[in-house]
Amino acid sequence: MKILSTISFVILLELICLVQMTLTEKCLEYIAPFYRKTKIVECPMVASKDKRQTTTNSNNMITVDFHCLTDDKTLCNKVEQVFITAGKFITATLNLKTVISVNAQFLDFCKTYGECDKNVVILGAAGPARMIPYQDPNENKIRFYPQALYKQMNLSEEHPEFGPNEIMATFNSNANYWFEGDPLPMLEIQSDMLYVVIHEMVHGLGFTTSWDDYFGVKALTPVIGGTTKAPSPGETTTQNNELESSQFFELISDKFLVLLPSGKLVTSIADEINEFQFKIESLSSLDGVANAFTASPQFPIAKNMYEVAMTHGAIGFLTIPPSEQLTQGQILNNVIILETSLIPYQHSSSIAHTDFETYVNSSDFLMLYTYPKTATLGQIMSAVGSTNTTGPIGPKLRLLLGSLGYEVKNEYVPPVKLSNMPIKNYNPSDAYNNNNNNYDMNNSSLICFNLILNLICIIITFSNNII
Ligand SMILES: [Zn+2]
Repeated sequence: MKILSTISFVILLELICLVQMTLTEKCLEYIAPFYRKTKIVECPMVASKDKRQTTTNSNNMITVDFHCLTDDKTLCNKVEQVFITAGKFITATLNLKTVISVNAQFLDFCKTYGECDKNVVILGAAGPARMIPYQDPNENKIRFYPQALYKQMNLSEEHPEFGPNEIMATFNSNANYWFEGDPLPMLEIQSDMLYVVIHEMVHGLGFTTSWDDYFGVKALTPVIGGTTKAPSPGETTTQNNELESSQFFELISDKFLVLLPSGKLVTSIADEINEFQFKIESLSSLDGVANAFTASPQFPIAKNMYEVAMTHGAIGFLTIPPSEQLTQGQILNNVIILETSLIPYQHSSSIAHTDFETYVNSSDFLMLYTYPKTATLGQIMSAVGSTNTTGPIGPKLRLLLGSLGYEVKNEYVPPVKLSNMPIKNYNPSDAYNNNNNNYDMNNSSLICFNLILNLICIIITFSNNII
């Protein structure tokens, strides 16, 4: 718990910086996703369009700035090939208008970060490289957009200057991956790197949430940030760094969250929680804010959200425009059920993934909180019948990305043929159902930890049995 509250504090500090940037023209960039290292950069409002959009390749709109920091050049080449293949699958699904640049590192986490645990191996981490605040003219709230999405939507002529990359990714060379061309069946301790990379890229595109237990008090809120006073005419912005007020901020993805079966929009719950007024600088520490919050009338609302996040089938992502006037039928037929069955609540596994039970044996298998055991991406697509229909990004996930603001292609043409060996009786849900707490720690797993605002997804795999 101590560790958690330390992390929350870091998030809080970073967010203050993040939100201040809207008025002081500073942006926050993640320079090392693994350790939440950030730097504040100047990002003045600019009017020019992204100059990189001319360097497009119609079958792969993802460019990778690849840094392979191991001596095994054969392995480096395999990893780089995975990024290219992942880019092709995403480009086969989305009509991307500008290039998405991924800064990817492949290095030994044991040597570099001292992460040498043989039982729990961290495969990698990834997330958006820069977040852009934007207020929709039709709405009264600022939401944060991953740079990748912001650029696709062409939201405004003038915008905070973009960073060089849309997505940051780092992968562990000291892990056991399966690559296309390796022998099948895949070993139990292996993970298909292509599945992992596409999964992470979809988080980087914006499938995430800001809702989390930032105070460590078993209550969910959106991320905490502060706003500075708007400068008066003629006033220089640099003189005005004082926080005016603090509040909870949502990401664009949070706009589509809905409680099930009621259809209540989760953004309205954010509004209720935002009735909690506080000034961070007037309180001595995050504990002070937490104490004030737990004593406030808004605390039970946040507490209830924590319970909802542990109730199976209780939160969905709307794939039609959010409205309070939707009928029960409209709601039920137009949601993706999110992962809210994990008990206790799991940072970054809960909510920001699709419901395991509902989607594990469907074409929407990609964004599960856990890696489908001993199957490669090609084998899973074949087992669920999506090889030639939607590929790795299933029909519901296509709708979700479309709701966020991406233009989804009508037709899907497989960009690459993956090797495949049919799996007899493919049923990964068996292992899941046999586990009492629904959190199968014995399987090779893919779990995302939200180290920064839920935006960084770290994947780990359990290579040995852990009781
Ligand atoms: Zn994930």
